[in-house]
Amino acid sequence: MAQGFSKLADNLAVLAAQGLYRSRRIIDAPQGIHVQLEGKTIINFCSNDYLGLANHPAVVLAFKQAVDRYGIGSGSAHLICGHSTAHHQLEEELAAFTGRERALLFSTGYQANLGAIAALVGRGDAVFEDRLNHASLLDGGLLSGARFKRYAHADVADLAHHLTNVAGNKLIVSDGVFSMDGDFAPLKNLVDIAKHHEAWLMIDDAHGLGVIGAQGGGLLAHYGLSQADVPVLMGTLGKALGTFGAFIAGSEVLIETLIQKARTYIYTTALPPAIAEATRASLKIVITESWRRDKLNQLIARFRLGAGQLGLALMPSVSAIQPIVIGDSQKTVAISQALLDAGFLVSAIRPPTVPQGSARLRVTFSAGHEAQHVDCLLDALAKAILSAEGRV
Ligand SMILES: *Cc1c(COP(=O)(O)O)cnc(C)c1O
Repeated sequence: MAQGFSKLADNLAVLAAQGLYRSRRIIDAPQGIHVQLEGKTIINFCSNDYLGLANHPAVVLAFKQAVDRYGIGSGSAHLICGHSTAHHQLEEELAAFTGRERALLFSTGYQANLGAIAALVGRGDAVFEDRLNHASLLDGGLLSGARFKRYAHADVADLAHHLTNVAGNKLIVSDGVFSMDGDFAPLKNLVDIAKHHEAWLMIDDAHGLGVIGAQGGGLLAHYGLSQADVPVLMGTLGKALGTFGAFIAGSEVLIETLIQKARTYIYTTALPPAIAEATRASLKIVITESWRRDKLNQLIARFRLGAGQLGLALMPSVSAIQPIVIGDSQKTVAISQALLDAGFLVSAIRPPTVPQGSARLRVTFSAGHEAQHVDCLLDALAKAILSAEGRV
């Protein structure tokens, strides 16, 4: 008979003792620079809403009008009767936006990654992943049943070493902008090495799309990499685009293959059509309002300059993700709590999300922030870190 959950309770106690216990904060207002937390107004520095579109009036209006037209639920999977005009138009616009032949919507980025990797490789094949890839990419590789190799972070020599003498289809998979470090994958080298070894290349641009490149076309647009260079492009809609969902973009053959074979596409309910319409509205803003990217870059530069002057250990990131590695998990949580007490929401990221001993504050910026928010954060960071080190 069931023993109850006493073992699980013991495990929870161990997590708590290690400073690794995770809990949720209840936010009681739209996502934005200011969030309501336990009745207090807090300045938010941990959202992925990089362009401030999650609550943009035009996006909200598009959603409301689409609800009048489509209602809420999509009713079924895309292949049954859930694929609406809204979904289809968004797919066409995403294909044009990314310069690919086709795009295919998935209900989440996690599902897009699991489904695409497992549809492309299986037993007898091999998948190669950067050690710091997002969990959904790693899980997709494991789920696929292909030989699974992790290479050292951004280390193309290590990747090349793994690629020699491998049979079957080969798929190289990498984050574009690394989600917990903010640095860029060595994309041009990855393209060269994939071509040299006749491997397929898949890039997850969750944190580049909308933010980087002319018109926000993402990291691949920034480097001018075509569909022939990077045949599998994954993007999410819940970050810079401010809505929800994800897509894979690439050739006609790729997309038709995913429609036939990606289980996380076939066996799940389609996104609400109103989400697709809201995303169409946000995509227009992403493309036309480049001031949002310019402003974001100014805020990032201001933060890096100020943090450098304070002697904070920055990472080599030019993206909106600016982690400060603290190392110890408990200390990181203490600093995050001190920041919250001072009115700033900055998340503490701990193992296993990041490697052991590299717990960090993951500071993210949005075009909705102002210079003065950055200055106040720097001030609060300096105080919180000093006091956590017991020097105050
Ligand atoms: C957020 C994220 C995902 C998952 O996307 P969801 O739509 O939130 O499921 C995948 N890859 C990366 C790199 C991400 O940051």
